[in-house]
Amino acid sequence: MRIVIASSEVVPFSKTGGLADVVPALAKGLLARGDRATIITPCYPGACSKANLPQPADTSVCVTIDMGGRPVEAHVLRTTLPGSEVSVYLIDQPDYFDRPALYQEEGRDYKDNCERFCFFSRAVLETCKALDLQPNVIHANDWQTGLIPALLALEHGRSGPFQQTASVLTIHNLAFQGMFWHWDMLLTGLDWKYFNWRQMEFFGHLNLLKTAIVFADMITTVSPTYAREIQTDEFGFGLQGVLQSRNDDLVGILNGIDPEVWNPANDGTLACRYTVDNVTEGKKNCKASLQSRLGLPVRPDVPLFGMISRMTDQKGFDLIMGCITDILSMDVQLCFLGTGEERYEHRLRELNLQYPEKVAATIGFDERLAHQIEAGSDIFLMPSRFEPCGLNQMYSQAYGTVPIVKRVGGLADSVVDLEHLTLEDGTATGFVFDEYSSESLFEQVTRAVNTYHNREQWQQLVTNGMRKDFSWTGSAEKYADVYRRAVQRCLQRLNEERELTAG
Ligand code: ADP
Repeated sequence: MRIVIASSEVVPFSKTGGLADVVPALAKGLLARGDRATIITPCYPGACSKANLPQPADTSVCVTIDMGGRPVEAHVLRTTLPGSEVSVYLIDQPDYFDRPALYQEEGRDYKDNCERFCFFSRAVLETCKALDLQPNVIHANDWQTGLIPALLALEHGRSGPFQQTASVLTIHNLAFQGMFWHWDMLLTGLDWKYFNWRQMEFFGHLNLLKTAIVFADMITTVSPTYAREIQTDEFGFGLQGVLQSRNDDLVGILNGIDPEVWNPANDGTLACRYTVDNVTEGKKNCKASLQSRLGLPVRPDVPLFGMISRMTDQKGFDLIMGCITDILSMDVQLCFLGTGEERYEHRLRELNLQYPEKVAATIGFDERLAHQIEAGSDIFLMPSRFEPCGLNQMYSQAYGTVPIVKRVGGLADSVVDLEHLTLEDGTATGFVFDEYSSESLFEQVTRAVNTYHNREQWQQLVTNGMRKDFSWTGSAEKYADVYRRAVQRCLQRLNEERELTAG
């Protein structure tokens, strides 16, 4: 099959979160199966030079989009994913994308985000046309490319090159919906008649994620548990009803991890590379190097907790702050990496000053340090309130770092709690708790520290995690199945349209 994946962020060109990791890994997984996967993404400043990649080539294709009566042009550049043959087309439109950040600055969304990503969504279709990519499926991701399924169904469903092109939407996080004031409907280029509560409107606003949910031929989300959760009042963010109505076409597929990027055996950022066979020695070196880099006392015996995350309530920072002084009363070290809400950044800086021997806080985005924390820590904290899939808990297991997670979303699907039974059958990989409270989190922290000092049990948790298969092979297969179903639905849609027209 020919699949075009449209994404607002793609590693190594751009990244704010998990979406960026998932897209290239999926594309490579599809290529390995024999499908032709192509990625289209915006060209942000220094997309290639920052990652030390060769400059992308100009394809000489220029697309022009009518944005509410104003023609806007973009050049299409081409490169490939490093170490692979997957083509990546970069939509070069400096007014929209040559900015310091992807979506927001100083905590505020760019005012023209709707315009930027409506433009990008249309540019994806024009690029497919200009380059004659003839996709069987265009795979949209999150609200930024949410207009694509609507465009395929409403503007291209009856004739033209996309008549038989199906759409798939993947929801990476339902909390971000792309909601804009109603006048932005003009930027979509679609008729006002679609601005109604069954299609593109959500309580008076334009909602691009809802739009995609309504019009996509198939919908996926990034874990089976999250696929169920988002149909409930608790996790549906108001879209539970629309999602329930698409229940038959909604599939949860757990993300994999990219073994070329996240693998302690060939990770060039580490002080020492290791496998499951020399994990004790390997992690000992990585831990010492991490402690020294972060200015923590270099002590092999102290349990070192790591956390890499957006610093928001979603990620459980409220729980951590609720029990941090109890945690710090134990003989432990904690290292944090992330950016986010000012109150959490501030509190962590304070803790760093107050407990320099115990707390290291790096406020910022640092890929290399993220790898070093995964390898050098003993325990990984991920007590998310909700978590569509989550990647760090999988990276942790692959790096022999034992995660503490809340039983929710993809965390529930990827970490197995330490119990008598799971220890015996070799499936236990971490600590999982049910109640979202600081008390429950603290209980798990205590459990983890006690288990850490039981070297035999700890070793077993570490090896169980490292032996787990988080590769994309199985997930890519499931996506391929979804693409086939989407193509069938698209044909069905086409036939229905034809019958209607004939009738
Ligand atoms: P989300 O997409 O909700 O932020 P995920 O766990 O799915 O959470 O993915 C987050 C990704 O971003 C992981 O690869 C994580 O290592 C990375 N990440 C998050 N914050 C930082 C940071 N400050 N520096 C480096 N990498 C980060």
